[in-house]
Amino acid sequence: AQHFLQRMAAHEALGAFVAVDADVTLAQARAADAQLASGNAPLLAGVPIAHKDIFVTRDFPTTAGSRMLAGYRSPFDATVVRKLSEAGTVTLGKLSCDEFAMGSANENVAVPAAGGTVVVPVRNPWDTERIPGGSSGGSAAAVAARLAPAATGTDTGGSIRQPASFCGVTGIKPTYGRASRYGMVAFASSLDQAGPMARSAEDCALLLSALCGPDLDRDSTSIDRPAEDFSRSLSDSLEGLRIGVPREFLGDGVAPGVRAAIEAALVAYEKLGARRVEISLPRTELSIPVYYIIAPAEASSNLSRFDGVKFGHRAKDYRDLADMYGRTRAEGFGDEVKRRIMIGTYVLSHGYYDAYYLQAQKIRRMIADDFQQAFTQCDLIAGPVAPTTAWKIGSHGDDPMADYLADIFTLPGSLAGLPGMSVPAGFDGGMPVGLQLIGNYFGEAKLLNAAHRFQ
Ligand code: GLN
Repeated sequence: AQHFLQRMAAHEALGAFVAVDADVTLAQARAADAQLASGNAPLLAGVPIAHKDIFVTRDFPTTAGSRMLAGYRSPFDATVVRKLSEAGTVTLGKLSCDEFAMGSANENVAVPAAGGTVVVPVRNPWDTERIPGGSSGGSAAAVAARLAPAATGTDTGGSIRQPASFCGVTGIKPTYGRASRYGMVAFASSLDQAGPMARSAEDCALLLSALCGPDLDRDSTSIDRPAEDFSRSLSDSLEGLRIGVPREFLGDGVAPGVRAAIEAALVAYEKLGARRVEISLPRTELSIPVYYIIAPAEASSNLSRFDGVKFGHRAKDYRDLADMYGRTRAEGFGDEVKRRIMIGTYVLSHGYYDAYYLQAQKIRRMIADDFQQAFTQCDLIAGPVAPTTAWKIGSHGDDPMADYLADIFTLPGSLAGLPGMSVPAGFDGGMPVGLQLIGNYFGEAKLLNAAHRFQ
């Protein structure tokens, strides 16, 4: 813990951490030492970890990257945090993320500062002029820069896989419902999933085994399936494994250097005994409008709780209750969050619900069915995580569409609720490229096996 606290201080300029408390961390480390000395320590005793600032924590403040929650401290730990702590991990601090996990670049973030908050983007350790990806950008940057051996992230439409890809680390999002959403500040509840980001598939397997499991009393979408040991088949042979490559994932929109890295990874898999099969996910492009209707719709509903009454920011000067709501939300939310609340309320409103929201739900079902069709031909699906490597900070300017379009390869699996991961697969122009592996429901062990053999 001391080693990592020193590295965190030395690399503060990356902006990965938003809350640190050495006293808390070292107290946890001492408790872990005592467990280890007793000879009766849990599996992850003393393993330092940092948490995305979207998980509520008792010992550290939680902001979800928003001015709205500046200074907020939760009275309880998120289930994922609690389970990892019970497994023995030591918390190094909280990691920067896009506001309410809305973003692909970790540029939409308000960080607590003296007298208020400031917008500080996280920097990619491979090139500090570039973004680390998002929304779990702090998590990916921290692991890549070795400020933490492991971190938690959340993935609604790619927020574990894409920053893992951009920073050259390994990350996995499990099947929807595997990890409890209790205490994860909600963005889009039918999509949000937690997962680990670390240096290897092996580390991810250990962490995923600890953080998953039913939480039926606290999360109504938690799946009633016992926890698994996801490292049980890490070293299994890949002989005969059918890897499906969707033709829509390697089209013209993919940067040549990214395509080359993915093709090389597929050749490596063939050498490991796997067989490449061409498949099609014909509604890949539609996943963008579908996701950017459904996720904002759910967000507009989830974010209604931030009204200045129960917790978080409250405007100082107001005339009456409605004015207080209006001013609080105008001051507390950033531009991207406001944009999504407006889109979400619009697509859910009377007269537009059928035209947008319901249509999107129907296409979401077709996208999930396309995957089931594909899984009759293959065991795993492989392709790029994103069409390019990490872009320059500020280069997408005020064009949210540029960010949305870059989500094209992670959104389909999210809409279908499938497990997916990013595995470092090489470089394009000096920046890391991630290989995306998508499994069928509850196929995490197989995904981690394929990633481990490749690594
Ligand atoms: N980039 C996507 C978005 O902005 C995904 C974010 C996420 O997975 N949390 O919504």
